[in-house]
Amino acid sequence: MKHVVVLGGSIAGLAAARAVRGEGHRVTIVEPDAPGAGGARAGVPQSGQLHALLDMGRLQADRWWPGLSAELLADGAVLGSGDEIRMFADTVRKVDVPGNELIGVSRALLEDHVRRRTLADDHVDVVTARAVGLATRGGRITGVRLRAAGPEPEPESKAERTLTADAVVDAMGRSSRLSAWLTEVGWEAPPVDRMQIDLGYATALFRRGNELPGVVVAHQLPSVTDEQADTGAMAAVEGDLWMAVIVAYADRRPTRDGAEFIRRMRDMAEPFGVVADACEMVGEVRTYSMGHSFRRKWWAVERLPGGLFVVGDAVASFNPVYGQGMTSALLHASCLAAHLRAGADLHAPARGYFDHVEVVVDAAWEVSTLADLAQPHVRGPYPRGYALARRMSELMARASVTDAWVHERFLDVVNMRRRPADLKTPRFWWRVALALRAQAAPGRAR
Ligand SMILES: Cc1cc2nc3c(=O)[nH]c(=O)nc-3n(C[C@H](O)[C@H](O)[C@H](O)COP(=O)(O)OP(=O)(O)OC[C@H]3O[C@@H](n4cnc5c(N)ncnc54)[C@H](O)[C@@H]3O)c2cc1C
Repeated sequence: MKHVVVLGGSIAGLAAARAVRGEGHRVTIVEPDAPGAGGARAGVPQSGQLHALLDMGRLQADRWWPGLSAELLADGAVLGSGDEIRMFADTVRKVDVPGNELIGVSRALLEDHVRRRTLADDHVDVVTARAVGLATRGGRITGVRLRAAGPEPEPESKAERTLTADAVVDAMGRSSRLSAWLTEVGWEAPPVDRMQIDLGYATALFRRGNELPGVVVAHQLPSVTDEQADTGAMAAVEGDLWMAVIVAYADRRPTRDGAEFIRRMRDMAEPFGVVADACEMVGEVRTYSMGHSFRRKWWAVERLPGGLFVVGDAVASFNPVYGQGMTSALLHASCLAAHLRAGADLHAPARGYFDHVEVVVDAAWEVSTLADLAQPHVRGPYPRGYALARRMSELMARASVTDAWVHERFLDVVNMRRRPADLKTPRFWWRVALALRAQAAPGRAR
């Protein structure tokens, strides 16, 4: 049994721990936040924002923690399917997709269950500490340098100790300093794609009654007619609450002002207005700013040390407008499990693993950056063929308002069940053309 150290005990770290355990290795999770700390914790400043767990993410989560969805539902989470999930383009409701499912749950409850289930394993332990650097020997990572992290406001200890490991998994999220640590000890940092997006999120809770029977999730997608328009989502979550998020860029970023939040909800699709008018806001509006998206291209590093894996937001963190972050992290865990199952040497550079992760990262990046790139203040980098891709995504968005087949394919890609390439086939574009022609013919739409 080998020993793997996972840095970061959030969604990606916990999923990686499960994946490694599934292959029979012992795991130590290093996490500065006290284990069991729920709610919006310091290490995960975005955790107070609405977090949708996509269908594919739920499937993966039930794979790593069998019965997890059922446990969440027993704790008050809400499962929506088909017409209980309302998608809107420019406040117009899109055609429903039967069989599409989403679970309404707060990030805090989800993480709480995932943590408890992961730590119930006798071969997984947690060290409450902060990783501050790497130990290396020969061509591989041999451990991690740690400093004790006490409960706030107790200052962090300056004393360091080294935890030895056969392999190290970086799951430290957006703020991971792994690249700097590697260069400190003579290794290469990965090339990075960075996109300045200047994005603002604001989430508020509302007391939920019977104002929207049959609605579990509403999602107002990025507009194809007005790139400055607010986007957002709302979901029925545990505690008989609605959780609603408003998303906008640059000087339109939402603030903590509750009255402004309600005003903006009224300008959005119908369910947002209903909740704004009928429901009492609970607590305060919480905001979060995301200055830039990035993807760290570990697969392009020429000199990669052995015994190193990177998962979750530490690899790539992008506009979560389609809610793909946690699902990506869970898919990275699948890549890790597949890599280990194929008999990979833990001490060797994990090239096969990073090649698989590249596919997951690029799929989410391609989908999530399209709306960002349409913003006047965003300066790229624009992918090759961007103008055509933008035009095609506008046509697809229009067609998916009325054509269930087109909408289903689009949701399959958003849900990471299919690759973006599936939206570029002649068959797909034939269906888009038919849908647009039907919309143009009076009385023939739908
Ligand atoms: C505003 C917003 C909304 C989002 N909405 C969605 C959504 O709807 N659906 C979705 O799927 N995703 C969403 N995401 C993305 C989602 O939050 C992340 O993709 C997901 O949390 C990835 O988890 P992670 O474990 O990689 O990183 P994080 O959750 O950020 O966790 C990183 C962990 O590393 C620990 N850590 C940091 N430094 C150290 C250190 N030096 N040593 C040890 N540990 C350390 C931290 O304490 C923390 O526990 C959203 C993100 C944002 C910003």
